[in-house]
Amino acid sequence: MNIAHLLQRSALVHGERPAVLAGSRLLHDYRQLGARAAALAGHLRGRCGVRPGDRVAIFAANCPEYLEALHAIHWAGAVSVPVNYKLHARELAHVLGDSGARVVCVSAELRDAAFSAGADPAGLQLLGSPAWSQAALGAPLAMEERAPDEVASLFYTSGTTGRPKGVMQTHRNLLAMTMAYFTDVDDVQPDDAMVYAAPMSHGAGLYNYAHMLRGARHVVPQSGGFDAAELVQLAADVGRLSLFAAPTMVQRLVEHVRATGGDGSGFKTIVYGGGPMYVDDLRRAIATMGQKFVQIYGQGESPMTITALAREQLMDQQHPRWEQRIASVGVAHACVEVRVADAEDRTMPTGELGEVLVRGDTVMAGYWNNPEATAQTLRGGWLHTGDVGSLDEHGFLTLRDRSKDVIISGGSNIYPREVEEVLLLHPRVREVAVVGQRDADWGEVVIAFVVADGEPVADAGLDAELDALCLDHIARFKRPKAYRWVPELPKNSYGKVLKTELRSWL
Ligand code: AMP
Repeated sequence: MNIAHLLQRSALVHGERPAVLAGSRLLHDYRQLGARAAALAGHLRGRCGVRPGDRVAIFAANCPEYLEALHAIHWAGAVSVPVNYKLHARELAHVLGDSGARVVCVSAELRDAAFSAGADPAGLQLLGSPAWSQAALGAPLAMEERAPDEVASLFYTSGTTGRPKGVMQTHRNLLAMTMAYFTDVDDVQPDDAMVYAAPMSHGAGLYNYAHMLRGARHVVPQSGGFDAAELVQLAADVGRLSLFAAPTMVQRLVEHVRATGGDGSGFKTIVYGGGPMYVDDLRRAIATMGQKFVQIYGQGESPMTITALAREQLMDQQHPRWEQRIASVGVAHACVEVRVADAEDRTMPTGELGEVLVRGDTVMAGYWNNPEATAQTLRGGWLHTGDVGSLDEHGFLTLRDRSKDVIISGGSNIYPREVEEVLLLHPRVREVAVVGQRDADWGEVVIAFVVADGEPVADAGLDAELDALCLDHIARFKRPKAYRWVPELPKNSYGKVLKTELRSWL
């Protein structure tokens, strides 16, 4: 089944319902959105020569046309290649070359960047241009049949380790991911509104399918991205707003709401994931916004779907294990099996650390043009996530750090997150990232990069306070050897802290 079927179905069943909004302004209902996707599919086929299985890239910041481009590509049986719009021209050139995408749907402000990355000028389709609007009103293409295991999308890994690889997400993967949203994340109602505050090329965009299926509203902020004040205003204007946000975005939203004396009304569900949410930040978020949060843990290789920590579990403060549970990433999604294994893939005993492995319908078909990496990552029929974690006796998974981020000092493993959680307890610490620095005596030593809350500091007294805090909470050997106070942490456009870059600073 072609994943574009979800839109086709909603265009029939929910034709009159509002589908796409630019800010709070309605652009298209579902009937129009379906007709536009079918016509644009016809344009891709007739004018651009896109055949089933061809790759078509989308290189754009969030914009209302993003959704119609995505669904038009699938409608035509082609493979979408959503590209992070903040990529450097060199990285974009790699994605275009590797995927073989000749046609690129690009927003006007990124046209030059696409040119410098070597995109074929004849293949550029300018989103929102007069030609695009014209094409969206053209003759519809009959939806191309797709087998469930055919590739629907190539998702390029963020490449914090090595060159980005194209994850082959099949129609089956995307459909299973969509169903998993309803079973384990949220029950979408037709008057809900999904707001795209995080990049649509990544997780936020993947949540369009569940909302498409239910005939809910899709809201693209005027800013095209994350702006806390704008989101709060949209929540008031549009109502029942749901969003996917990286933990750093949640933190900024919560800070804004607290500073302006607001509350969470207008927001329905805030799904967070993509990186660790620290317990202290989460407590503050719940206290400020209420019962709105759901956590997911996923990766491009099993999109948005490995584990989830449900609203009820997050709110069940009377539960004797609540503290541990909110520090976990929840339990396996219903449609996947999750286990924790040693280097030989043997399942670890409950509570012990190992690599997180996943099997199920959301797991990718492999990496594009990369049989070696595919065989390595999918060996034995399980996805090897590269994440380290442990399962408790009730099936809750607690992640440590990615294996490459673990610090080995004097032969002992130190998990940066544990140290970060402690440092964040200090009121002057806004953000922190702990990494290892090579050391002749110890192999590695612990270094903490710290962002101050309020004025930047370089104060030995404060370092001593942080030391004392660590000594109160964790083993002495885990204490940072140095604190580097920085104005901000380097992050990628999805809000993930770039530990590789921090290590290179050292
Ligand atoms: P990506 O494929 O770019 O979405 O990155 C996926 C990686 O982000 C995972 O392998 C984890 O290391 C990390 N990640 C995703 N969700 C979470 C979460 N809820 N908590 C901690 N780390 C996460």
